[in-house]
Amino acid sequence: MSRIYNFSAGPAALPEAVLERARDELLDWHGCGMSIAEVSHRGPQFAEVAQRSEQTLRELFEIPDRYRVLFLQGGATLQFSMVPMNLAPGGVADYVCTGHWGRKTIAEAKHVCRVNVAADSKDNGDTAIPQPESWQRSEDAAYLHYTPNETIGGVEFHDIPASNGVPLVADMSSNILSRPIDVSKFGVIYAGAQKNIGPSGLTLVIVEESLLGRASDATPAMLNYAAYAQKGSMQNTPATFPWYVAGLVFEWIRDEGGVAEMGRRNDRKAAKLYAAVDDSDFYSNPVAPECRSRMNVPFALAEPSLDEKFLKGANTAGLVNLKWHRSVGGMRASIYNGMPEAGVDTLIEYMNEFERRFG
Ligand SMILES: *Cc1c(COP(=O)(O)O)cnc(C)c1O
Repeated sequence: MSRIYNFSAGPAALPEAVLERARDELLDWHGCGMSIAEVSHRGPQFAEVAQRSEQTLRELFEIPDRYRVLFLQGGATLQFSMVPMNLAPGGVADYVCTGHWGRKTIAEAKHVCRVNVAADSKDNGDTAIPQPESWQRSEDAAYLHYTPNETIGGVEFHDIPASNGVPLVADMSSNILSRPIDVSKFGVIYAGAQKNIGPSGLTLVIVEESLLGRASDATPAMLNYAAYAQKGSMQNTPATFPWYVAGLVFEWIRDEGGVAEMGRRNDRKAAKLYAAVDDSDFYSNPVAPECRSRMNVPFALAEPSLDEKFLKGANTAGLVNLKWHRSVGGMRASIYNGMPEAGVDTLIEYMNEFERRFG
């Protein structure tokens, strides 16, 4: 068996050490004679997993005590509805859109509350973040929502926008835990797990306690943050196995040196790859340099008719899932925490070689 380099945007590559540990523990978790996937979510084994994974995450990400951490299902996409249901029932919310996922979340929020699109990068083809001075914010917004990393367009905020006292809500699906961040600046952080946290099926929500209890009385319990918080994310059976693997990922990050070390590695990986793109006349990336994503690096070939050849050769070289999102052409390399630096080095060698032969 040999592992290949998987550049998928999600579900994405997991650290090999995490997979090995999950394998080693699979049949008999900590001597209990059962897999952790087979035990009750209310039993002592899973209680330990749940408690430990939250504690590790809190330490890693320096989450202040006044925040609740929820382990939910439904993906980041369900949060597009749950955020307005829980924070802005009947009210107005401001949204800053910098790409595909921002547009999706706005469309869903419109079913629930009044949406003010404070800024939208469609005018620049989603290649730059509109200047914060130009954002048209409302007077009475319940929150300001943005997407710190647009996974498809490869546009990332490298600073936290000023919230002007309004709770800041972030869809951090594709860059959570990729570097240190000041959690205390946010009202809600949410993330689907399958990029930087673990397997799909789990959604992480970090919510400031003072924001709980704003949902209307008509809100079903399964859509209500406060109800989940009260029940320790166990109103029903949670995604136990993804939750367990997420805990292993948190411990792996801690043991590797924490999110600061992840940040250094991710900076290095992205810098190399963008340099390879910029140093060539054959590859290009359209995003403004100051907001290029460290997680998702889209690049186009000068000759799109070579795309298929590029992808085929890449597959043969053990570099897979480089095809960009089905809605766009070209390539995209997703290089989350789980992608080792050697994977990026191998990709760059392949790109250089391909350009020499066909460019
Ligand atoms: C992947 C992704 C989503 C969708 O996540 P699901 O868990 O599939 O619902 C939403 N937002 C961003 C930024 C993403 O990268």
